[in-house]
Amino acid sequence: TSTPVTVIGLGLMGRSLAAAFLAAGHPTTVWNRTAAKAEGLVADGARLAPSVADAVKASPLTIICLTDYSAVNGLLADDALDLSGTTLLNLTSGDSAQAREAARWAEQRGVRYLDGAIMAVPPSIGTAEAVILHSGPQADFAAHEATLAALGTASYLGEDPGLASLYDVAGLAMMWSVLNAWLQGTAMLRTAGVDAVTYAGFARLMAAGVAEWLPGYAEQIDRGEFPAEVSALETDVRAMDHLIEESEALGVNAELPKLFKAMADRAIAAGHGGEQYPVLIEEFAKPGPA
Ligand code: NDP
Repeated sequence: TSTPVTVIGLGLMGRSLAAAFLAAGHPTTVWNRTAAKAEGLVADGARLAPSVADAVKASPLTIICLTDYSAVNGLLADDALDLSGTTLLNLTSGDSAQAREAARWAEQRGVRYLDGAIMAVPPSIGTAEAVILHSGPQADFAAHEATLAALGTASYLGEDPGLASLYDVAGLAMMWSVLNAWLQGTAMLRTAGVDAVTYAGFARLMAAGVAEWLPGYAEQIDRGEFPAEVSALETDVRAMDHLIEESEALGVNAELPKLFKAMADRAIAAGHGGEQYPVLIEEFAKPGPA
């Protein structure tokens, strides 16, 4: 816990990151464009660096967490900035192309660079619940893993620097799919006088139950074989018709169920009606219709 760390960017997230390092006993250097945001951290023992150059010199690990990659690029573009003594861990949210571009920039400058994605909100930082994804050179992650444990659960995904962002963005698909599916059901149940809280208890069990299918279905996808062990896509599509018809009959929105069915219908048209649901990966793995 005596390893020094630097945190650049003291927005809502950056302040939580710095506070977690302080709480774990790390000598913590901070820098922010608007210096006033460092006041609380300084009161708690952080050192406010007078410049970015000074901040990155203070520690073997520098975490940067700004609004977006263009802010990061702008701040680090200065060729005179000496980053040779630190490993840069960029926890700014972005996409995989931005992460790989940043890693190329770092490689050209001889800078040790890890990319990361925070799958947590600021109040949870410093608890095991806060999962932070990392990608880039394994040796650089290993060198700082113990320090990073102060922030939460540090997960390493692989050498490709784009992986943390890819997992982060892929997770958004899961989040919005579960939320939208739940809202669809809530709207349907409300027509029968069932309130949202009552249905949420059931919906939560449904979501957890379906999640149990993923590992087995994933094996089918990796094998590229989709035998209908439980149900065939044709059977699933008949249930989709029920969902669409019931939604329309109840006067609730049927767009989402219709999207499900449109994709399944294309897979059936391509000859996959007798196979199991994850055969739809073939529809997901290519651009949709214009
Ligand atoms: P805030 O808006 O609270 O903070 C933004 C930070 O970026 C501030 O420190 C700001 O400095 C700095 N900044 C912006 N532009 C520049 C620039 N051009 N030059 C220098 N500094 C700049 O955002 P958050 O802290 O909430 O988010 C930071 C990152 O963390 C984002 O990528 C976000 O997606 C990610 N994240 C946030 C989560 C959250 O729940 N808050 C959850 C998961 C990820 P200044 O104070 O001077 O304006």
